[in-house]
Amino acid sequence: MSGCEHKISGSREKIWLPYYFEGRERGLKPHPYCTECGLIKNLSSEKPRSIGYFMNIIAELGTRHKIAQIQTRLIALEMERLALDDKFGMDRMQQEDLFVEVATRILNIPARAVYELLD
Ligand SMILES: [Zn+2]
Repeated sequence: MSGCEHKISGSREKIWLPYYFEGRERGLKPHPYCTECGLIKNLSSEKPRSIGYFMNIIAELGTRHKIAQIQTRLIALEMERLALDDKFGMDRMQQEDLFVEVATRILNIPARAVYELLD
């Protein structure tokens, strides 16, 4: 969990990193970063999702698989721990990969079952 308010670095202090557009690498771009925790700002064109979006996916999975209340709770806690909704540093692809990892681990279902619900 970051719990950081994120203070953006000045325009001269940037890190050159690959930039992704529509899931493909499009060369290097200077990325600002947080001077407090060091997290690099996500510059992806795809807006990150909210925790609510992922909780809806869990609800959707619940109509197809047997999901106990405690499992839903564990997934919510795990997303919080991983700071999945930290929109400063997370891009959509990172979020989805983390979410799929958490969901498949806690629900013991194949990754495909989760990926097919993400759009
Ligand atoms: Zn920070």
